[in-house]
Amino acid sequence: MWTFTLPTKIQFGVGVSRDCAQVAREYGSRPVVVTGKTLIGTDRVREIIAELGDVPVFAEVTPNPTVQQVDALTRLIREEHCDSVIAIGGGSPLDCAKAASALAPSSESGIRAFLTGGRQFGRERLPLIAVPTTSGTGSEVTPIAVLDDPDAGTKAPVAGPALYPAHALVDPELTLSLPRFTTVATALDALSHALEGYWSKNHQPICDLAAIEAARRIFANLERVCEAPDNLEARAELSYAALLAGMAFQLPKNAMVHACSFPLSTRYHLAHGAACAFTLEFAVQFNAPALGERFSDLARACGFSSATEMAARIHAFKRLGGLPCTLADAGIPADAIPDLVQASFHPLMNNNPREVTKEDLGRMYGGLT
Ligand code: ZN
Repeated sequence: MWTFTLPTKIQFGVGVSRDCAQVAREYGSRPVVVTGKTLIGTDRVREIIAELGDVPVFAEVTPNPTVQQVDALTRLIREEHCDSVIAIGGGSPLDCAKAASALAPSSESGIRAFLTGGRQFGRERLPLIAVPTTSGTGSEVTPIAVLDDPDAGTKAPVAGPALYPAHALVDPELTLSLPRFTTVATALDALSHALEGYWSKNHQPICDLAAIEAARRIFANLERVCEAPDNLEARAELSYAALLAGMAFQLPKNAMVHACSFPLSTRYHLAHGAACAFTLEFAVQFNAPALGERFSDLARACGFSSATEMAARIHAFKRLGGLPCTLADAGIPADAIPDLVQASFHPLMNNNPREVTKEDLGRMYGGLT
């Protein structure tokens, strides 16, 4: 038995972000624009804001958005009486905006009340238009936002149907200027979503289809994009793959790769995609025997005859993007391994198809010297 839900309207194609102001009018009369400090200076974002007229702009979102940023955005939404939200950026502005658009209509003043295990969101939320500028997180089609709580030293998700964006405008043109590191890191985040959605204990048929197709397109196009960053057709393949990968994991959820990524991001400041990529090829080889025929089907669809071959390709992508491949690259001292292992046992670890022990992770990190 399974249930598949996706309430987000998806509009995909080169140039669709030019329709942003027009689309926004379908959802409200006073939107707030949420973006990052660098993006606010780009031509397309400036054009969108100019077309919207006199609307509040929140450009304070940093990589790994914090609970304080969500609370500040929520105060702005309430003070300015905004009735809709436009989020333009990578996963960080999107996640911050998703959390605030669900928090704003509630009686709570802070998002902490809703962090894992706390209060549940009601149905009410401000409609959100998500405009991704990377081909990675798939946040435009998921009901989850991952937030940093620097005071508590933790990274935790808020989730619920209220977090689904109302509308996704996926425009590959917006990814043309991404530097190689970000292109590879975000693509490997998307690949992690596809593979983890597929091998999750909660995998299900529709998500499997999206996962296989997403993984196939990333393996086929990532090197092409690195060789020719302005190849719009190859960029569009990655944008589509990241969107599919978002659909692939949003119901099955992630597993060991994302569990391990959290301490790598909070303690060693690895970008989310680089943190996922750090353990991805190990996870492929570790999980393949537990998946049997299901792994063979996936590998074959992606053009590989074994887990070793797939892992080698992932390693080559990491080298191509200049992503950290060893403990030294990531700034992790060897004597920090026991603590890192301990901190990796996030609840998502229980979603892994093969049980992961501390010894397994100790061996994995020990081998990355
Ligand atoms: Zn991710």
